[in-house]
Amino acid sequence: MNKNNDELFKNVISHAKEYGFVFPSSEIYDGLSAVYDYGEFGAELKNNIKTYWWKSMVQMHENIVGIDSAIFMHPKIWKASGHVDGFNDPMIDNKDSKKRYRADNLLEDRIAKYEKDGKTAKAEKLQGDMEKALKEDNLNALRDLIVEHEIACPISGTRNWTDVRQFNLMFSTQFGATSDGAEEVYLRPETAQGIFVNFLNVQKTARMKIPFGIAQIGKAFRNEVIARQFIMRMREFEQMEMQFFIRPGTEMEWYAKWKEERLKWHLAVGTNPSKYRYHDHTKLAHYANAAVDIEFEFPFGFKEVEGIHSRTDFDLSQHQEYSGKKMQYFDPEINQNYVPYVIETSIGLDRMFLLTLINAYEEQDLSDAEKTDSRVVLRLHPCLAPVKAAVLPLTKKDGLPEKAREIMDKLKLDHNLIYEEKDSIGKRYRRQDAIGTPFCITVDHQSLEDNTVTIRHRDSMEQERVAADQLEKIIGDLVSWKNLLQKI
Ligand code: ATP
Repeated sequence: MNKNNDELFKNVISHAKEYGFVFPSSEIYDGLSAVYDYGEFGAELKNNIKTYWWKSMVQMHENIVGIDSAIFMHPKIWKASGHVDGFNDPMIDNKDSKKRYRADNLLEDRIAKYEKDGKTAKAEKLQGDMEKALKEDNLNALRDLIVEHEIACPISGTRNWTDVRQFNLMFSTQFGATSDGAEEVYLRPETAQGIFVNFLNVQKTARMKIPFGIAQIGKAFRNEVIARQFIMRMREFEQMEMQFFIRPGTEMEWYAKWKEERLKWHLAVGTNPSKYRYHDHTKLAHYANAAVDIEFEFPFGFKEVEGIHSRTDFDLSQHQEYSGKKMQYFDPEINQNYVPYVIETSIGLDRMFLLTLINAYEEQDLSDAEKTDSRVVLRLHPCLAPVKAAVLPLTKKDGLPEKAREIMDKLKLDHNLIYEEKDSIGKRYRRQDAIGTPFCITVDHQSLEDNTVTIRHRDSMEQERVAADQLEKIIGDLVSWKNLLQKI
């Protein structure tokens, strides 16, 4: 990370804390590593991102329905899915600092350093060697690369490394009243399996015909060894996943379609397309025959936000084998029974949250348009903004608060609003800018005379005078989900 990006990232993290978006979990007990809490505005922003995803998936597609499956699932499910045996990361420990690292992360950091120093050929060679070792699950080769490229532990500064070992990422706990008779269950590491095991139920009750999708939003848990980059890599996080069931042989067509659709969803909120790129996987997971990441340019480089995977019939076939239940679909068009193939779209809600915050965050120098010389503004899309409008009486007297309350009481039936009368109007505008409120409705003395108010627009800081009785329509139109959903 160069200094500017490093500083920007630090500023975003402290802004998130200062303005009630994200707090470290259990902070008064010195925190719990890689676990975070969402504050009053964070919870709203997160809900709005969920709503955007849910509406675009479920409401906008007649052939996609949404479910909400439990976090606890039968332990056999994780055997069938391959997670018990294969959900591992290659880890290496430094013997002096006793710190543990993901071997591929150490190598990726070295590649980034080579690139930064203009050593492109070296970077490409290391990338190729690393991908080959990962593909072949060759742990010794990974260690050899770390040694060959003289990678030292950032804490101890030494190159005194252990062997590379596999480390399972699933959390387990005891299920049942006594620990003796209790069964070991896992906290789900992905929401996808909750969809697969409900395939037959949903297909039947919703009377779905292939191709169709099942969507879900929910918590997932991974015992990530390296907690880095704020809410980028957490131990408890949320996923928004959709599994699209299709006829075998049509997977490449649907894979291409979802790849395109998902990027459109990201761009519809107005993000600069140059901030996004696709990254095709060279090392495919055991279940996939094609996979791509949608990556966003964070201050620490391009990183995955969402994965689109062609999962073949792996999951349903495995559940068929392990449960003994037929996971098949009768396709009346071709008069055949088959285990459907699946295209998955899987996005991390917390990563999307971080992306949204970083993308919206701006420190601006102002030529005293509002008598201050700088401001921090979150240029969030109005649909995503935690608070849609602030209602502000210019002063605390002369009947202005009463008039403002009247407006507030009407608008709050439809929108999340803030009412504020403390401090100068300039200070109040700044506070709203900092949490991304797109509109401020100001009630002044003229409002009492002609029933008009001003709407101040966050991004342009321009004000317009409008009739107070038109506010429901004006604000309703400005924050309507239509504005977003029509673009995708
Ligand atoms: P990574 O390579 O970054 O570990 P992954 O490829 O294991 O991610 P998937 O299993 O494809 O991730 O999960 C889908 C999405 O879930 C990811 O694109 C990411 O947005 C999110 N995600 C995965 N792990 C975490 C985590 N530990 N914290 C927050 N989000 C996560």
